[in-house]
Amino acid sequence: MTILESQLLPENAVERHIIGAGDYYFAPLKKGQTLRILDLEGNQAADTLFFNAADVSERYSATDTIREQGNVYLTAGSVLRTNLNNPMLEITADTCGRHDTLGGACATESNTVRYDLEKRCMHACRDSWMLAVAEHPEFGVTKRDITHNINFFMNVPVTSEGGLTFADGISGAGKYVEMKALMDVLVLMSNCPQLNNPCNGYNPTPVEMIIWD
Ligand SMILES: [Zn+2]
Repeated sequence: MTILESQLLPENAVERHIIGAGDYYFAPLKKGQTLRILDLEGNQAADTLFFNAADVSERYSATDTIREQGNVYLTAGSVLRTNLNNPMLEITADTCGRHDTLGGACATESNTVRYDLEKRCMHACRDSWMLAVAEHPEFGVTKRDITHNINFFMNVPVTSEGGLTFADGISGAGKYVEMKALMDVLVLMSNCPQLNNPCNGYNPTPVEMIIWD
């Protein structure tokens, strides 16, 4: 776990957007720009996909990223790689220390398995991504392009037996993760609405997206 603070100041940012729990963020990030995801109230999960803006068939790949860094967790120094094994973004600052890329995002189907059949009607990250894709045809992303994601701020430790556990969140109010784009990318983030997940502290809250040139 690596804690590394940023030198960037929010007052110098070129864009700032507050995304409520259950809402999505779908926008370009240019090569050389830095994106901070700020956990405003703590214990929130930001379920995020990245696409090469020039060709969305090239996208963030959990398997390539894990293999190349030799570690299942993401933190400062992690290079997020694509399915063509190209470096896509680098995590340049991190005050949370651990981010999951194994657990996947919540879907109404998985919520019935994980929680209860009656939870099926509840809003899930996959719904937010589908809505984002439908509302932004200009980016050329379709539901077929929805694959591996990163759960920023989510704590999914691997047990000594190799199992996955959804543990209490380790993020707190004001913690953030920051990454620099190494290519022009599209950022598709669902701010998780799932209130049955301990990673969200049973209380989904807003995050802020802050961008610097
Ligand atoms: Zn979710």
